Amino acid sequence: MPLLDGFGRIATDLRISVTDRCNLRCTYCMPAEGMTWLPRADVLTFEEIDRLVRIFVSLGVRTVRLTGGEPLARRDVPKLVEMIAAHDIDDISMTTNGTTLAKHAHALRAAGLERINVSVDSLLRHRFAEMTRRDALDSVIEGLTAARDAGLWPIKLNCVVVRGTNDDEVVDFARLARDTGYEVRFIEFMPLDADESWSRASVVPSSEVIEAIDRVFALERIVRGTEPASVFRFADGAPGSVGVISSVTEPFCASCDRIRITADGQFRTCLFALDEIDLRAPLRDGRSDEEIAAAIAAAVERKWAGHRIGARSFVRPSRSMSAIGG
Ligand code: SAM
Ligand code: SF4
Repeated sequence: MPLLDGFGRIATDLRISVTDRCNLRCTYCMPAEGMTWLPRADVLTFEEIDRLVRIFVSLGVRTVRLTGGEPLARRDVPKLVEMIAAHDIDDISMTTNGTTLAKHAHALRAAGLERINVSVDSLLRHRFAEMTRRDALDSVIEGLTAARDAGLWPIKLNCVVVRGTNDDEVVDFARLARDTGYEVRFIEFMPLDADESWSRASVVPSSEVIEAIDRVFALERIVRGTEPASVFRFADGAPGSVGVISSVTEPFCASCDRIRITADGQFRTCLFALDEIDLRAPLRDGRSDEEIAAAIAAAVERKWAGHRIGARSFVRPSRSMSAIGG
């Protein structure tokens, strides 16, 4: 029974937040101080996550991504990777800030993780520190090297582009892609920052990013499935690629196949959803897999057409990005 919504989309991609905690404080995501963490008892156990994955797979989910908060801030995450990789899925991946990846890369690979997305917003140490409020660029670079050594491939870099902050580095990131074979994905800044400093003016449209790179390194578009990223290769055949995720200027809601579980077991059918379905209570109240599956299917059926960033009627979700799970 596939997870079909009222607009004919089928949900097959599940994002699981394993923790709301993080060791960085990226300005576009978390506040500098004062974030309240979920009580430990509210966070799903690995066994509960595993059971949910089994239910979601029975409903047609084919790919799983672990995220957070910082997924590697949770102890024993490779163990969870191993549990999830044992299910009948096509792909398991992770989005991490990379700061502790050097320590975990080999264990993650051994547990069944094949590829990884690492967030890096600046290649300049002082600016990285400004954007993440921690001086951690060196450890991320070490993490990237370790990931490659461990055989995690492809490596994708996620870079949130913020106007007047790091938009002068997009060509440097493209050069890094050519030098390393990484796919660098530029993400438009979305109104999910805890500080609520987002404004339309702070968004750098993806079209502008691609034009800036294309002026230096000619690009050719690669057509690739229903992925939200538009991906480009280098016309001169250099390794690596660049991609853009244009959630604000060209939303991909019409083909969205994503669904999410927060660290405390709330089910969301959209990053910007204003409502959540509690899956933790039924998990802990002894409900059957069938009952939980029915609640999930009913929520997907009600999934809205898409977010309305920019519209007068747009309402920010009450949780910010790190608490939802990006
Ligand atoms: N801590 C991990 C990391 O940073 O990769 C995983 C969680 S993080 C919330 C997932 C992704 O969301 C990261 O690539 C991050 O850059 C991105 N992100 C966070 N806040 C964002 C925002 N307001 N707009 C766009 N992307 C954002
Ligand atoms: Fe942490 Fe990731 Fe949010 Fe940065 S983007 S504060 S690394 S959860």
